[in-house]
Amino acid sequence: MTIEQKRVVSTEIPGPLSLAMQARRSVAVASGVSSTLPVFIERAGGGILVDIDGNQLIDFGSGIAVTTVGNAAPRVVDAVAEQVALFTHTCFMVTPYEGYVAVAEALNELTPGTHAKKSALFNSGAEAVENAIKIARHFTGRQAIITFDHAYHGRTNLTMALTAKNMPYKQGFGPFAGEIYRVAMAYPYRWPTGPENCAQEAFDAFVSQVHAQVGEGNTAAVIIEPIQGEGGFIVPAPGFLRLLSDWCTANGVLLIADEIQTGFCRTGDWFACDAEGVVPDLITTAKGIAGGLPLAAVTGRAEVMDAVHVGGLGGTYGGNPVACAAALAAIETMRAENLIGRAREVEMLMMARLHAMAARFPQIGDVRGRGAMIAIELVAGSGDDTPDAALTGAIAKACHSEGLVVLTAGTFGNVLRFLPPLSISDDLLSEGLDIIEAAFAAAVAG
Ligand SMILES: *Cc1c(COP(=O)(O)O)cnc(C)c1O
Repeated sequence: MTIEQKRVVSTEIPGPLSLAMQARRSVAVASGVSSTLPVFIERAGGGILVDIDGNQLIDFGSGIAVTTVGNAAPRVVDAVAEQVALFTHTCFMVTPYEGYVAVAEALNELTPGTHAKKSALFNSGAEAVENAIKIARHFTGRQAIITFDHAYHGRTNLTMALTAKNMPYKQGFGPFAGEIYRVAMAYPYRWPTGPENCAQEAFDAFVSQVHAQVGEGNTAAVIIEPIQGEGGFIVPAPGFLRLLSDWCTANGVLLIADEIQTGFCRTGDWFACDAEGVVPDLITTAKGIAGGLPLAAVTGRAEVMDAVHVGGLGGTYGGNPVACAAALAAIETMRAENLIGRAREVEMLMMARLHAMAARFPQIGDVRGRGAMIAIELVAGSGDDTPDAALTGAIAKACHSEGLVVLTAGTFGNVLRFLPPLSISDDLLSEGLDIIEAAFAAAVAG
């Protein structure tokens, strides 16, 4: 069932049927679970989400960087249908099956580095991060974990502790897990002495803070998103990851790259670390891995992964056979359709348009990102980099009512982020960018 790749806005957004559904939802669903845009979706594919009112929205969100291969991607649909009819679950810890092994083989091959690797599969990104920390502590016999300003690693207790932003992720949910230490991120746009000094100064601050406050010999791991996601698509200053990686190696500390949002072609490489030639000891993946089915993984150096005693890792559903079939089909799609190349094309198209908009609207303080993971940071403008969350919210809202799904992000709530599926057409991409530009023109004039 193919969906015409065309934006259609035939009602207010949300339309009457979505509003009625929203009323049902607000009675039945806990209000702590929110939705960016409460239109209820009936089907989706290519670059389009179809809602129950018959509106066709352009998708610049991919369900938060998940449907990289497209929604209901044909190979994924076929593989899932086939697997679901064979068996749905045995629990890999009870009686195993090939799909899990094949996904582990693919991860070991595709992740950065040619050394011997092993993988373990889980259900969600947060669960993968939890397990990466378990493995790192077990292997090193050390406890401290270093995380960064603007980091996002999930919503479970340990991953809330790793996550930087209080509202909405942490407020009222403490106490948080211990032995987590936070250091400054190499954030070029907001680095006090300018972007050119950012990598070295941030690294120097990291080294002295870890030495003075934690102790290298107590430090199990440094965990970092090679491009920060929820924190606002902050691309660390070039060289920062390499400096961290070398420091980790010299100090017997493991480098954990959280590639949950950046992985699987999203940034125009298999993984974002590839762009800097950085080889982490452990890597967490989820989101784009399985075309929308819940699957996550930790992949790492074989000797690190194998340090844990037999039975020390696992979970009832981890590496579910249907999710594994989906992952294998998603990876096959990425290869067959050269989605790395497609992400780079998306970057070129979006960057050209967004830089032109930044020249026109001084409120666009920064344009950044890689591949199909691009953001703009909104500020007061004309030399004043005060974050403007209100303008960001207003532009997002204006885009939503025109039938374009965009997401916000950032510690200060002032980042508009774009994560289109790699199955989107150039026409829809351009139309989405037209909508953003018109929203700016209206907001700035008004
Ligand atoms: C989304 C995300 C997580 C958490 O993944 P869940 O599947 O929501 O638990 C962790 N790290 C990063 C970088 C993410 O983007």
